[in-house]
Amino acid sequence: MSLFIKEIINDLKVTDKYEKIIYQSIEESKILFNNIEEIAGFNQYKILKAFQKNKATDFHLNGSTGYGYGDTGRETLEEIYKDIFKAEKAIVRSNIVSGTHALAIVLFGLLKPGDSFLSISGTPYDTLLKIIGKNKEPGTLSELNINHDCIDLTQESLFDFQKIAELLKEKKYPLICIQRSKGYSSRKSILIDDIKKVCQFIKEISPETIIFIDNCYGEFVETQEPIEVGADIIAGSLIKNPGGGLALRGGYVAGKEEFVLKASYRLTAPGIHEDVTSALDFNRTAFQGLFISPLIVEQALKGAIFSSTLFSKLGFETTPSPNEKRTDIVQGIILKDPELLKEFCNAVQSSCPLDSFVRPTASQLPGYDDAVIMAGGTFIQGSSIELSVDGPMRDPYTAYLQGGLSFYHVVYAAIKAGLVLFNKDVKSSD
Ligand SMILES: *Cc1c(COP(=O)(O)O)cnc(C)c1O
Repeated sequence: MSLFIKEIINDLKVTDKYEKIIYQSIEESKILFNNIEEIAGFNQYKILKAFQKNKATDFHLNGSTGYGYGDTGRETLEEIYKDIFKAEKAIVRSNIVSGTHALAIVLFGLLKPGDSFLSISGTPYDTLLKIIGKNKEPGTLSELNINHDCIDLTQESLFDFQKIAELLKEKKYPLICIQRSKGYSSRKSILIDDIKKVCQFIKEISPETIIFIDNCYGEFVETQEPIEVGADIIAGSLIKNPGGGLALRGGYVAGKEEFVLKASYRLTAPGIHEDVTSALDFNRTAFQGLFISPLIVEQALKGAIFSSTLFSKLGFETTPSPNEKRTDIVQGIILKDPELLKEFCNAVQSSCPLDSFVRPTASQLPGYDDAVIMAGGTFIQGSSIELSVDGPMRDPYTAYLQGGLSFYHVVYAAIKAGLVLFNKDVKSSD
């Protein structure tokens, strides 16, 4: 890689000291790439087999219009998702507008007025809190008299088995919610092995309880997915991992047939539920994006590992640390300073293929309480399987870096962001 690194070092006028750190980071992270490639290969083969088994064909790539009756492209895509996730049923739709929407239709589909549901991975993702509501805000679960309880992970970011057992014995929970990726929190993301253990544990105490996993950012990072280790239903976004950077929009829900159907009643309407939705121009990029997704996830993971290595060498705490086992593509870099977070985002923005000339600013976004700063000059608006960085403007001012269609692009952006931090450090020690 030194040809390319040399160019960057020249262009950015990097000092000898920082240059050394860059080369060390490249060498050290390379050692960790073997395992990433193993997993990518495994998942690529799994996806290829699902395409072949379901006889995907050129005709399926063209979308339908109107009601979308008999859209065999949509149906085949859903069969493929079903097989990959080892589910009984999947819906993969362009009219699921985001990850939040996918999560919402599951919760509204499966919970009834008077129900309580339980989160066991700490406070849910910011936008999910808006769905849950606090004081019967219009449209929220709270307005329907659906109650939410929450158990934090332990200090070590593991499930609190004792608390879970206590609550499950105390109260009836029709649904338990687990968020695999850490979101904007300081805890770690949850490994498939740990999801497996907790699913077994929950089913022993309360076999009726539905286990629902927010799978956003987790797809194809490990060799197994949540349903094959005991979860009942999962949801995620196609402008994250499974869209492979090509899917133009969309989300998915997969799991037990009965539960996925209930979610589909909320997506459309009872009676028409999963049988309508014209795919328009959705199918081609959804198929192709899924096919290349393991490769893109591999690029993103290599970029994340390089970034984690580089920024820890620059003296920042990173989560996960470079050689920690990963279950999602998100790389946290704890900056502890609002100005640094802004400058970090600015450096990443200026490294992007599109909109490299604009400066990101923190602003209020629908679904978020704190102002959020986001950077990413992406081909698909808001796509975070493409290189992007974001973070809420709150302590400890963590930059959440994720995605990257090209590992080399992530390397460049990380070096550029690192330069800002490195120069700050040199200045402050003068
Ligand atoms: C991105 C994300 C969501 C929400 O997805 P949107 O597409 O932004 O609505 C929910 N949960 C987690 C863990 C996420 O990473």
